[in-house]
Amino acid sequence: MDILTSLSQNMPLALILAGVFGLCVGSFLNVVIHRTPLIMKRQWRQECAEFLSNEPDIHPKVKEYLSDTIAKDTPVSLSFPPSRCPNCHHQIRAYENIPLISWLILLRGKCSRCGTSISIRYPLVELISALLSVLMIYSFGATFTGLMALIYLWMLIALTGIDFDTQLLPDRLVFPLGMIGLAVNTQNTFTSLTSAVWGGLLGFLSLWSVATLYGMITKKEGMGAGDFKLLGAIGAWLGASMLPLIILLSALLGSVVGLILIKKSGESKPFAFGPYIAIAGIVALLWGQDIMSWYLTLYQ
Ligand SMILES: [Zn+2]
Repeated sequence: MDILTSLSQNMPLALILAGVFGLCVGSFLNVVIHRTPLIMKRQWRQECAEFLSNEPDIHPKVKEYLSDTIAKDTPVSLSFPPSRCPNCHHQIRAYENIPLISWLILLRGKCSRCGTSISIRYPLVELISALLSVLMIYSFGATFTGLMALIYLWMLIALTGIDFDTQLLPDRLVFPLGMIGLAVNTQNTFTSLTSAVWGGLLGFLSLWSVATLYGMITKKEGMGAGDFKLLGAIGAWLGASMLPLIILLSALLGSVVGLILIKKSGESKPFAFGPYIAIAGIVALLWGQDIMSWYLTLYQ
């Protein structure tokens, strides 16, 4: 008997494991959310500097400055350099890095050396990841479907955090998300492969066409290209029939939060739409079928 089969017969244990695992992955997602934009920006700087310094009419002083920029740029990856306090650069020790517990008990939300507060964002991401991981396994069981639902969830949490912070939806996460969605549905896991392919295409095209029309009429950019790709990726997981619900939910959520933000700050600033698409995508995976059948009963 493999691990999944024995776990699916012991639901309480499966849920506890999902919670603990979700907490640990949440801790890693914090690193992904914080560092992916840094890694991308460093790469852009290097590419820009390299491109410009190879231009034929570049001034020698500028060329020197650019090669200096490349040389001085310190490398960054998901594992390097080790996590440090942003204020005193105290290196976070292993026991200070236990998800949730360290923040709550050991550190009480403060750096152990200089006492600077550590953002509540970190334990919050861990907690959300843990709770939603439990909910996924509760809904889909300790099965292949449940495990795939966890991958979908974790990738969407990472994208939500990154877009919220930087208004970027990195292709290096969005494309794999869509590809995994198509691969998972070759087994008819969440929808048929045909519906997944159409979901990917129509998800992208629906927002792309709205944004292109908006751009032609107002001569302004309303939505980022990342948003189309993200809806396409979610469409590849859930199928074309879920797209109207996801668009409706995300628009509703986005306008409510947008209105609150405008009321609070008194001005309309550009804000990331990706988090609302991602949240709608998670809601649609968990309750999409229920919401749709409830909606259909209204017309009977
Ligand atoms: Zn410190």
